[in-house]
Amino acid sequence: MEFRDLKTQYRNNKNSIDKVISQALADASFIGGKPVKELESILSDYVGREHCITCGNGTDALLLALMALGIKEGDAVFVPDFTFFSTAEIVPWVGATPVFVDVRKDTFNIDCAELEKEIAYVRENTILVPKAVIAVDLFGQPAEFDKIRKIAKDNNMYVIEDAAQGFGGSIGMKKACSFGDISTTSFFPAKPLGCYGDGGAVFTDNSEWAKKIRSLCVHGKGEDKYDNIRIGMNSRLDTLQAAVLKEKFRIFKEYELEKCNEVAQTYTKLLSAKVTTPMVEQEMTSSWAQYTIQLPSREVRDRVEKELIQEKVPCAVYYKKPLHLQRAFENSQIKGRGYPVTCQLCDSVLSLPMHAYLSEEDMAKICGIIERVV
Ligand SMILES: *Cc1c(COP(=O)(O)O)cnc(C)c1O
Repeated sequence: MEFRDLKTQYRNNKNSIDKVISQALADASFIGGKPVKELESILSDYVGREHCITCGNGTDALLLALMALGIKEGDAVFVPDFTFFSTAEIVPWVGATPVFVDVRKDTFNIDCAELEKEIAYVRENTILVPKAVIAVDLFGQPAEFDKIRKIAKDNNMYVIEDAAQGFGGSIGMKKACSFGDISTTSFFPAKPLGCYGDGGAVFTDNSEWAKKIRSLCVHGKGEDKYDNIRIGMNSRLDTLQAAVLKEKFRIFKEYELEKCNEVAQTYTKLLSAKVTTPMVEQEMTSSWAQYTIQLPSREVRDRVEKELIQEKVPCAVYYKKPLHLQRAFENSQIKGRGYPVTCQLCDSVLSLPMHAYLSEEDMAKICGIIERVV
């Protein structure tokens, strides 16, 4: 059994994937080849945005967003306390200060009431300027962007959507990657839409920011690569990855996204009487980057994890440690109001195998083990 079954995905689609890789090799245009532009156009159409700029990975995508918005020293950037490290890692990179915000227990996403309180706290107690919120579509479900946008507007702040796990999710008719002033995603192999290496993308409707991001990706280029008008970086999606992604996007859209939603439904049916299963809000759909259950205590969680691993069922704790307790942020954060929900989640969550190739028998086995332990 696989946690995310990239082997079966490849086996089932070997012919078409091999073909696009061979074509890319034959074309020998490894950086900035035709598939890169084609992919950007396909993805911006799918999520409904004016611009898609591909880049080296999802972390760079977030950094490019902060750089494009001119976020700098003296600015406060609000980040959920319960997320992958890189959502916050890029904030000190531009000299700004992360302020962590507690999350909702039922959706794992940023708690809007807490966000408002943290903003007020920063205004009253620091000289920092609240500048942006990075809301994460954690485990595949979009954050509450209606509320977040309103809070941001009232406070003259930007909204950045970290959709590294959210690609394919939606709120009503609108797709993830369309909710931030700038939205970002990752094509790391295990993400909902993954490539065969590192990759990422930035989305926006603002042409000025898009132009700046395109420049920043290629050494701050001006007229061309050898005319450098700003300090940038080297962050590009290579042609091979773009060719693979074009093909994998087709599979994702035709089959995998829907199938993952069926898997989630089956899990919930089998598990909801025994453990806390993930809640997807009305109007929203998840891309199911993770299927994450909550157990009653750390002791029970650790026991379930151990038992699953013993029975050769891969599982993982996303995430074990709140960001505000990471040593890397020891001296570079505003200690906010406290994070009881995140602390509780870190002790009780467990993510189960989730992919479009998971069999009914495997799901029954997994749920049987969980039932036995709890
Ligand atoms: C994976 C991930 C990232 C970073 O993406 P990389 O491509 O690995 O750099 C950022 N934010 C979240 C929430 C992620 O899950």
